Amino acid sequence: MKVKFVDLHAMHAPLMDEFRRVFERVVENSSFILGAEVSRFEEAFAKYLGADHCIAVTNGTVALELALLAMGVGPGDEVITVPNTFIATCEAVSAVGARPVFVDVDAISYNMDPTLVERAITPRTKVLLPVHLYGQTADMDPLLEIASRHGIQVLEDACQAHGAEYKGRKAGTMGVAGCFSFYPGKNLGALGEGGGVVTSDAQLAARMRLLRDHGSLRKYEHTVPGYNFRLEGLQGGILAVKLPHLDGWNDRRRVAAEHYDNLLAGNGIIPPVELPYAHHIYHLYVIQADDREQLRKDLNAAGVETGLHYPGPLHLQEAYKSLGYTKGDFPVCERLADRILSLPMFPDITREQVEYVVSVVKESQCRTEPARQVFAK
Ligand SMILES: *Cc1c(COP(=O)(O)O)cnc(C)c1O
Repeated sequence: MKVKFVDLHAMHAPLMDEFRRVFERVVENSSFILGAEVSRFEEAFAKYLGADHCIAVTNGTVALELALLAMGVGPGDEVITVPNTFIATCEAVSAVGARPVFVDVDAISYNMDPTLVERAITPRTKVLLPVHLYGQTADMDPLLEIASRHGIQVLEDACQAHGAEYKGRKAGTMGVAGCFSFYPGKNLGALGEGGGVVTSDAQLAARMRLLRDHGSLRKYEHTVPGYNFRLEGLQGGILAVKLPHLDGWNDRRRVAAEHYDNLLAGNGIIPPVELPYAHHIYHLYVIQADDREQLRKDLNAAGVETGLHYPGPLHLQEAYKSLGYTKGDFPVCERLADRILSLPMFPDITREQVEYVVSVVKESQCRTEPARQVFAK
C-alpha cells in the first residue's frame, strides 16, 4: 500500500465546480489582486476566529513580517521565539532588522516553555512570538501574563493552527495579532501562496492595510513607503470556498489522530499529547522514536511517506550562525530534532491507511524506550 504524506486531491475534488466559478468571476471582473473576493474572505475568516479584522497577504512569512512592521519592531529590537519552528518565523524577525532570541520548548507540548521566557527578556525585548506548533497552541495564559507584566506585545505564529483552540479561545486571537499561512498543505490552504494577519486592534489593522499595498489606500497616494504583500483575488475566492469546510476537515484529522494514538499505544513510540487546555487540529502528527532514521527508512520501503518538522534547530542553522548560539543551548529542542517523525496526516486519510502505517511502525527494527523515561522532566 502507498500512503502519501499529504494527499489533497480527495479534499479538493468535490469543490471543483465552486473553484471553477471563482475562476470565472475573477476573469470576468478582472479582480486579479485584492478586490471583492479577497475582502469577502477577510471578513469570513475574521468572523470565524472571532476577531475584528483580517488582512490577507501573499503568504505566512510576510504575514509575520507585516505584523512586526506594523507593531513598530525594527533594528535594535529583540523578538523572543523558539528554535523548533519553520525558519520563516525567524526570517520575519530578521527581515524587519530585529534580533531573534530563542527560548527552549516544553518536552511534552513541544511549544515555548513559559518558565524559560523571563530570563530571556532584556530592555530591548519588544515582542514575544510563540508558535502553535503542529496544530496545538502554546500555553498562552502564562505567556500573556509575563508579556503584560513586562510591557511586551504578543504576536502569535498560528501558521499551523487554523481553528486550534486554547481554553476555548481560537489560536491567533489571543495576542495583539495572529499570523496565518494558507500554503496549500496547511489545514486551510490556497491553491498557491496565501497568508493573513488577524487582529482586533483597529489601528494596527489600518497600518497593516496601508503597508500591505505600497503605503497606499487611494491610488497614486502613498502615505508611507510600504510593500507589495497583496493576496491574489483567485486565492481569496478559493479560500472563501474552503473555509466553511475547515472545522469538518479538522475533525477528521482528529479522528485519524485518535486512531493513530490507540494503535500506537504501548509500542515504545511516543505519540503527540493533547494538553488539557488545547483543541489540537493536527496539522502534523508527530511521534518520537529512538531510532528515527531506521523507522523512516522502514516506512519509506513500505511505501509510506514521512516528514521531519524540523530536523535542524534554527539556532544551529548556518543562516543564524551570527546569533552566536551553540549546540547544547536548547537541549529539549535538540533532543526532539533527532527523535521526531511526522506520519501521514490529512483529512481524507483512511482507517486502513492509518492501520497500515502503524503495522509498519510495529514491525520496524527501530529501537524504542518506554515513554515514561522521556516524560519524566
Ligand atoms: C508555513 C509556516 C510559516 C510560513 O508560511 P508561508 O505561507 O510558507 O510563508 C511560518 N511559520 C510557520 C510555523 C509555518 O508552519
